[in-house]
Amino acid sequence: MMTYDICIIGGGAAGLSAALEAYDPTLNITIIERSQSLGGILNQCIHNGFGLHVFKEELTGPEYAQRLIDQVHQLNIHYALDTTVIDIDKQDLFNIKLTNIEKGEFNILSKTVILTTGCYEKTRGHISIPGDRPKGIMTAGSAQRYLNIDGYMVGKNIFILGSGDIGLIMARRLTLEGANVLGVAEIMPYSNGLTRNIVQCLHDFDIPLYLSHTVVDIKGKENLESVTIQQVDSNRQLVPNTQKTFLVDTLLLSIGLIPDIKLFDHLKIDYDPKTQSAIVNQHLESSIPGLFVCGNALHVHDLVDDVTIESKKAGRYAKTYLKDTKKKNSLLASIDIDQHIQHVIPQHIDFANLDEDVEISFRTLKKYQHLEVVITQDKKVIRKSKLAYVAPAEMQKIKLNPSHFISKNNILISLSEVK
Ligand SMILES: Cc1cc2nc3c(=O)[nH]c(=O)nc-3n(C[C@H](O)[C@H](O)[C@H](O)COP(=O)(O)OP(=O)(O)OC[C@H]3O[C@@H](n4cnc5c(N)ncnc54)[C@H](O)[C@@H]3O)c2cc1C
Repeated sequence: MMTYDICIIGGGAAGLSAALEAYDPTLNITIIERSQSLGGILNQCIHNGFGLHVFKEELTGPEYAQRLIDQVHQLNIHYALDTTVIDIDKQDLFNIKLTNIEKGEFNILSKTVILTTGCYEKTRGHISIPGDRPKGIMTAGSAQRYLNIDGYMVGKNIFILGSGDIGLIMARRLTLEGANVLGVAEIMPYSNGLTRNIVQCLHDFDIPLYLSHTVVDIKGKENLESVTIQQVDSNRQLVPNTQKTFLVDTLLLSIGLIPDIKLFDHLKIDYDPKTQSAIVNQHLESSIPGLFVCGNALHVHDLVDDVTIESKKAGRYAKTYLKDTKKKNSLLASIDIDQHIQHVIPQHIDFANLDEDVEISFRTLKKYQHLEVVITQDKKVIRKSKLAYVAPAEMQKIKLNPSHFISKNNILISLSEVK
């Protein structure tokens, strides 16, 4: 059976970036990708706005992917396409079960694994929208794939539920293709997309955004005929007499993304219900030694540049793990968060292996203006930072260098509004 030093599962931006950073001519690395090409979700994101930080240029998704793919080719890093990982188990080594048309089911072994399987979109079942079950209701990402990869227009009169970035981008894309996008409804009192996408994809095209609204009825026997929305109050209770009905043939759902980590099932990895993925330390290593998780498989990112930066770290530390220079006895402390924060990455700091700055990413639960981020350890403030504006759609980052810590105990991140 083939044995690798590093097996990277998923050939999107995260997998490619991790492979490039892990590259060493003495190591046997492979990338396993279930689709026919490398690049992942970037292949269907034909709009620009990618790469400003990593490549210092504004690229489209496929251009960004191609830059990474070209480097993978230059370094001759091995990859397998049309090959799906269906299970992972660990004894001494990781035993990875794969399937493809050529070989059927087969196994490979690897000393380390970097899981970069991306995320999937929530569907109608996740939020239980009442009404009929006609054709014409799909996720915004599926519509993006139909249009940008397969060349099919999904509808003529379109309504979008959820103001996530994919929905906003599709509002503009479908308008440019000649569709009539009647509006976007968002249950929260603010948008869940990046501000630049609200401006460039809705405002610039006069597409109305109905904040604090949700879909309360869907009509249509075979094909979708209409969608009714209604306002909600601050307790998400429906406000009477605020219904609006739109005659549409298509409803796109852009209601959230979930890390795709089904492969953990056998591994019994420590799991964070807030991110719906693995708990990791500052090296992106999970509770299973040698198993690293990064990119959208770990937490959903706004920008591909952040995916690349994070995944390079996973690649670098997979290599360090193989060199056996890491202290075996981890000394794990938690990064705790207060009630204003949705989730944090990493959730743990391994103080026995603290060798560089710890970069912490978090999202808030709601919008705030003039905020102070306070980090404490042993009830003493070890770092403070002011932020003018934060929103759940925009991931925040803060760095701690090893000299900030005053002990090896847990740290707490809390937020307070500055008057
Ligand atoms: C619609 C949309 C618009 C975006 N717009 C922007 C933007 O304007 N600017 C920006 O900077 N960022 C944007 N982003 C964010 C950024 O593109 C993504 O966060 C990033 O590309 C995700 O990379 P990833 O490798 O983690 O996941 P993916 O790209 O999803 O890659 C995961 C890969 O894993 C493979 N895989 C999954 N399971 C298996 C398995 N079991 N076996 C083998 N292979 C498997 C998949 O086929 C896929 O290729 C956008 C994202 C989306 C979805």
